[in-house]
Amino acid sequence: MSTSKLILDYVYEHESALADQIYLTQPVGNGQVVDYTWRQMMDQARRMATHLASRGFEPGARIAILSKNTAHFMMTELAIWMSGGTTVAIFPTESAETVKYVLEHSGASLLFVGKLDTWPQQMPGVPAGLPCIALPLAPTTTFDTWDAIVKTSPPMAGKPQRKPDDVAMLMYTSGSTGTPKGVMHSFERATRASEGIVAYQDKQVGSDFVYRALSYLPLAHIFERAWIECAGLVRGRGHVFFAESLDTFLQDLQRARPTVFISVPRLWLKFQQGVFSKMPAKKLDFLLSVPLLGKIVARKVLTQLGLNDVLLAGSGSAPIPPALIAWYRRLGLNLMEGYAMTEDFAYSHTTTSTLNAAGHVGVPFPGVQRRINADGEILIKSPGTLVGYYKRPDLDAETFTADGFFMTGDLGEEGPNGQLKLTGRKKELFKTGKGKYVAPAPIENLINESPMVELSLVSGVGQQAAYAMVVPAESLRPRLTDPAVRAEFIEEMTAVLSRVNSKVADYEQLKMIVVARDPWSMDNGFLTPTMKIKRSRIETAVDPEVAKWFAAKGPVIWQ
Ligand code: AMP
Repeated sequence: MSTSKLILDYVYEHESALADQIYLTQPVGNGQVVDYTWRQMMDQARRMATHLASRGFEPGARIAILSKNTAHFMMTELAIWMSGGTTVAIFPTESAETVKYVLEHSGASLLFVGKLDTWPQQMPGVPAGLPCIALPLAPTTTFDTWDAIVKTSPPMAGKPQRKPDDVAMLMYTSGSTGTPKGVMHSFERATRASEGIVAYQDKQVGSDFVYRALSYLPLAHIFERAWIECAGLVRGRGHVFFAESLDTFLQDLQRARPTVFISVPRLWLKFQQGVFSKMPAKKLDFLLSVPLLGKIVARKVLTQLGLNDVLLAGSGSAPIPPALIAWYRRLGLNLMEGYAMTEDFAYSHTTTSTLNAAGHVGVPFPGVQRRINADGEILIKSPGTLVGYYKRPDLDAETFTADGFFMTGDLGEEGPNGQLKLTGRKKELFKTGKGKYVAPAPIENLINESPMVELSLVSGVGQQAAYAMVVPAESLRPRLTDPAVRAEFIEEMTAVLSRVNSKVADYEQLKMIVVARDPWSMDNGFLTPTMKIKRSRIETAVDPEVAKWFAAKGPVIWQ
């Protein structure tokens, strides 16, 4: 599908060819929804574009959005692009401190405030005097509203163009370490990667499938932005539904009946644990193994999950245990694993129907080149590679090779048929007293295979050995005060410890499993907005207790 068209060209084509087809469906509370056809979506976006242009911002002005995913998030981005601006999306769960940092660092000229759960806490992060516009579904504010502005602004006419090299968006990386960096993506690169995503989907399931997606992973993160928003805008023919809330997630799924569905490992695990809370894992396992009945049961489970129409599912953004993928595939879900990052517009590697060896993240997407350098670091040259980091030209030399490959910081090996195996992340490597580098992520992935574990972290910098911390599965946590449940959990963790230790090198052996006192969450600052663990925060928080754990006896330690 490679052309010289840019994403806005696709949008104008769909606006005229699919004018009266519903493209977006937004829940507005109490089971009600509002549908937007291509014409209606573009009419609002064009009116807001006129308004933004009337404010006389410089070309490429950074315009920020702080909102959960909604139809108006996407309309806002279209308005920003048509008016000559660059979008800066901020995670809706971000703290006031980060909101402030991103608005200041990007030099934002205006902020759109949308649907949010924690606006009163975030509001202090908005610099005084920054103009703000409230989107529909925003909390009550004194800002000008989207609705009032579109009522009085005429639609911007014609097909406002952007240059291929113009920066379409700054994506502030979720920052599991250090301060967030603003990844610059141009229209050209964002479009080429989005075209690649559409071509991949069509190749996997056939180009005449009916595209329906549920938008619920944060649009401020590249996975959702690239795979749902941008690829959707390039594809055009399809229907994107938004989720109302966490509580209504199943109804949201049942309304959308997605044919394409992406998620992150932590949520794939939660969905599985939801199934196990209704039917024990062993019983389900047995039923699935019964001929004929197994198929009916599998279908039923997928229907209960709201995933029975899914033709193509994807997991990405963090390691997922191969056993979890196998479990979904056994149910009949066509689940693929992708490996990519903000810096390559979520367009790097994926498994396919034929290349999906367990423990591997597949092969490069068409147009992506991969190299593994002498110290094992994965280098990527993707059609979606970033232009650079905003206001950080100093990082170019550190992150790009002379021939334009991006140094991912991830470590890997090439497996059968060119399939990539991830073996860790350079910055996460640590040494115990045993003197050899330990890569925590693959060990955590082994631990996470246990259905009793929600999250884990392997650490042990400078200690006599590595150790793991685990957060027990949500459904289990309230029951751990029951001595029988606790004994069962200890037994499982003891088994996990010996299973893991039988699979890792001697210098990676875990001394013990420590049960985290409280679950790690975004609220307590131990998870990033995309649900990755913030290693250094957790390590710093438990630092005073580590010596005590090493002095204690037993493979399982309660904090
Ligand atoms: P982000 O830019 O926030 O999407 O983070 C990208 C990083 O997530 C990559 O550099 C990897 O370290 C990690 N990552 C992405 N996909 C996977 C995967 N399938 N398995 C393991 N780690 C992954």
